[in-house]
Amino acid sequence: MSRLTRRILPALAALALGATATSASAQNFPTRTVTVVVPFAAGGPTDTVARLVAEQMGRDLGQTVVIENVGGAGGTLGAQRTAVARPDGYNLLIHHIGMSTIPTLYRRLAYDPINGFEPVGLITEVPMTIIGKRNLPANNLQELVTLVRREGQGINLANAGVGAASHLCGLLFQSALNVQLTTVPYRGTGPAMNDLVGGTVDLMCDQTTNTTEQIRANTVRAYAVTTPTRLSALPDLPTASEAGMPGFEVSIWHGLYAPRGTPAEIVTRLSRALQVALRDPGLARRFQDLGTEPVAQERATPAAHRAFWQADIARWRPVIQAAGQFAD
Ligand code: ASP
Repeated sequence: MSRLTRRILPALAALALGATATSASAQNFPTRTVTVVVPFAAGGPTDTVARLVAEQMGRDLGQTVVIENVGGAGGTLGAQRTAVARPDGYNLLIHHIGMSTIPTLYRRLAYDPINGFEPVGLITEVPMTIIGKRNLPANNLQELVTLVRREGQGINLANAGVGAASHLCGLLFQSALNVQLTTVPYRGTGPAMNDLVGGTVDLMCDQTTNTTEQIRANTVRAYAVTTPTRLSALPDLPTASEAGMPGFEVSIWHGLYAPRGTPAEIVTRLSRALQVALRDPGLARRFQDLGTEPVAQERATPAAHRAFWQADIARWRPVIQAAGQFAD
């Protein structure tokens, strides 16, 4: 055996051992609790979706899947936590459309908002609703339009920070009406909803997964849903088009991510568990009750998620650049 072969052989053996160890740990995955970061406060719409999905995924994985709320900075703090976490399948993220807008909206981030992640699968698309505090002096969308045009910055619009779904919807609302309101950022729209119900802020545009129960309980005023047709969960709520803002349509999606470098076998295993979760009739019923539904099974895969996400980043980039709205 030459000296070179003697030096190379142990290195090759170590590499092979490493590969075996990786696939062995991928085969056994998971052997302990899996953590999913939600980049917004507990009790909000992303948190609600994530908790329902995590519980079902945990059944299929045979391990507990816990939620960790890391809210703040429009969902970038939580995303960063996962991007720099160990890529071993135990550190995941459930985020929304912000994954498509943050790469353009934020000029400085301490993580790579595109290459820092392995997409695992899409989860759901959620309509938004325009809602106001109970005693806002506007009985319908037309009256709301008149009110915000008259009061401008005298009206407070809650959101979950730059890049959050509520921020995007609020931006579109203001630009459609050519008004500027006073925005009030929260760590998530869960706490923002508390203030809306309490009457401290005036308005919010948020996902049905947060607003449906409040609308039904009549603790807030509901003006419109941002889908082309009405929702079966809220049949009395008109669409924005019906109520006087034609073409005002926004919907938000959620997806599951692992840090870049997570072994492909583990990403595939997680995606399978996500698909099983989304097929659960109890989860589908709960989603429907909250005005949404699970995506079709073929969209809950890494490849479909990656393709959709990349196209969505490209769709939002010119919109954000044209609006000139950036965060540092
Ligand atoms: N989904 C909300 C938003 O982006 C935040 C949250 O889930 O709390 O506005």
